[in-house]
Amino acid sequence: MNIEQHPRYPLTFGPSPLQHLKRLTQHLGGAEIWAKREDVSSGLAYGGNKIRKLEYIVPDILASGADTLVSIGGYQSNHTRQVAAVAAHLGLKARLVQEKWVPWDDPTNDRVGNILLSRMMGADSRLDDAGFDIGIRDSWKEALAEVEDAGGTPYAIPAGASEHRLGGLGFANWAFEVAAQEKELGLTFDTIVVCTVTGSTHAGMIAGFAALEDLTGVRRRILGIDASATLAKTRDQVARIARNTAALIELGRDLRDDEIQVLEGWAGELYGLPVDSTMEAMALGAQLEAMITDPVYEGKSLAGLIDLVSSGDIPKDSTVLYAHLGGQPAINAYHSLWP
Ligand code: PLP
Repeated sequence: MNIEQHPRYPLTFGPSPLQHLKRLTQHLGGAEIWAKREDVSSGLAYGGNKIRKLEYIVPDILASGADTLVSIGGYQSNHTRQVAAVAAHLGLKARLVQEKWVPWDDPTNDRVGNILLSRMMGADSRLDDAGFDIGIRDSWKEALAEVEDAGGTPYAIPAGASEHRLGGLGFANWAFEVAAQEKELGLTFDTIVVCTVTGSTHAGMIAGFAALEDLTGVRRRILGIDASATLAKTRDQVARIARNTAALIELGRDLRDDEIQVLEGWAGELYGLPVDSTMEAMALGAQLEAMITDPVYEGKSLAGLIDLVSSGDIPKDSTVLYAHLGGQPAINAYHSLWP
């Protein structure tokens, strides 16, 4: 099946908006910079990238007859908040495992932002002491068993919806959406910059843009900016999911190594904790464009974009698309960064 033939359950308003970041472009004095805004493209609890992934998973959820979505993330997980939102929207229950992925001891961390929203939407959100890992976890398997033991029918959605077999399709389709918007605007984005942690956002884009390249001959760089600080794992996961997604949309060839680029340099030492470049990028985005980014994900990918443009790695004649994947609710738990 090509991407258009995969069933999709709409959870977004339509194509996510493109925004020309004119003041940031001027400030950096190099490439033209645009953003594609996943953070404002759905009415479900502030949206974000998981909503788009879940559009391709909901048909499978509905076909399964499940009554409870079970998923996992950190205390301030955007992903689990979006699973809670989709559960509420579909009239299902949500059981969320919130692990201590980030050594961030602010007393509000398990109370405000994403976790607050999940609880408001009726999710059964429970804290767990386990640390950061993008893989499959015991606590999550236990939550699944617990739902079954209580007579429910769980539907398992792994961290970031990434290890789900359909998890890459949402952003494979994003590539085709970009191509349609390019046509309307009369421009071509030669470089895409995207934050990467559990991998299926970047991986889906890689598969989708590879399919487009084969149709149109347009070659682009799809640069993933690692925010996991566990680079080797994230690189492997991106490559694996990109290849699986490419097979699902019948790409008909293997992906080249140069199509899979996860860059390091902006994650800092640990997932979830900002470094100086994150703080500077968040301030620039906010003060030049009123574009709010978070210290866990988008602040790091924005820092990557800023450095790559400033250093000339992304040349001055480029037209760059920054994928804004959401994540703003978490900033509430990070209030102490702006005393
Ligand atoms: N940006 C935000 C706001 C996120 O919530 C996530 C989720 O992990 C990412 C980026 C990274 O996306 P992925 O996990 O698909 O690599």
